[in-house]
Amino acid sequence: MPIFDTLSKKVCGVVKKDEALKTYTYMRIGGPADILVIPESVDDLRWVLSFAREQELEYFIMGNGSNLIFDDGGYRGLVIKTNACFSQMQVKAESIFAGSGVNLTELILASAAAGFSCLEHLAGIPGTVGGAVWMNAGAFGKEIQDCITDVRYFDRNGNEKARPVVFNYRKSPFEKGDIIRGAHFSFTRGDKDKILAEIEEVQRKRAERQPLEFPSAGSVFKNPPDRCAGEIIDKLGMKGMRVGDAEVSEKHANFIINRGEATCEDVRQLICRVRDRVRREEGIELELEVEFVKTK
Ligand code: FAD
Repeated sequence: MPIFDTLSKKVCGVVKKDEALKTYTYMRIGGPADILVIPESVDDLRWVLSFAREQELEYFIMGNGSNLIFDDGGYRGLVIKTNACFSQMQVKAESIFAGSGVNLTELILASAAAGFSCLEHLAGIPGTVGGAVWMNAGAFGKEIQDCITDVRYFDRNGNEKARPVVFNYRKSPFEKGDIIRGAHFSFTRGDKDKILAEIEEVQRKRAERQPLEFPSAGSVFKNPPDRCAGEIIDKLGMKGMRVGDAEVSEKHANFIINRGEATCEDVRQLICRVRDRVRREEGIELELEVEFVKTK
């Protein structure tokens, strides 16, 4: 039986053929995935993964697609969205377990409602818990690692593990093939109203500084040691620089926005120009924070 038919028959959830990936990313870029799968349960996900291995299909795991730029040619293989199968959240007396598919905002609001303080600075990051753990998301001097006690994940052989992990700046120790199931978060007790006010303040600062009115994938570059990528790009006068519909934001120089029909190639070229200039004039090699996804 052809691969699509088998998946449609066996998997509960969404299974779509030739599905435009631009619809599933914040940057609104990306050609079609051969097959997009959104498994409904962990068992469905396990089945999809073992089927992909058996058929030697390439696969890519995604959450909300807020840090991703898929290739214009799309993805040859399976793109698997884990939002639905890892949507569990348990609020306990002093901690929370949140599945990878839970939206970070949902977790932050649940922790505030329980009077737990720790995650407020990450308010407004449009990712899932899985995506945030994968890249140790952070903002305003805090990182998700500050609140995590341990991470549950499946290793590349499908074995489930739970352990404390050591993170780096915008990087977890996980590798492609590992699938994050969720994480335990611990908190300090705080006043609910103060926590909610802090969340509101963080969101206000974001709206003031970031071009949230346009599609983007957040910060394009990691900050080099002791420097701010956005300030370097701004200082070199590159705000407003454009390739096609991809533009270095006038509001925040470390954001590239999609003004309509930007392609992955437009963004790549624009990034190349910015990097070349920063290398030439500042002697700094900017490292990517956004992730380009292409079939191997
Ligand atoms: P995706 O973009 O879908 O995936 C990102 C990576 O995580 C991929 O490599 C994917 O394979 C992997 N992944 C996702 N889920 C799993 C899983 N279950 N198991 C294994 N791997 C997985 N980021 C910050 O750190 N700080 C910010 O302040 C910030 N602000 C942003 C503002 C805007 C407007 C936008 C658009 C983005 C911003 N980002 C920021 C980037 C992005 O939101 C974060 O990186 C977020 O954590 C990504 O989560 P996601 O669910 O969208 O992951």
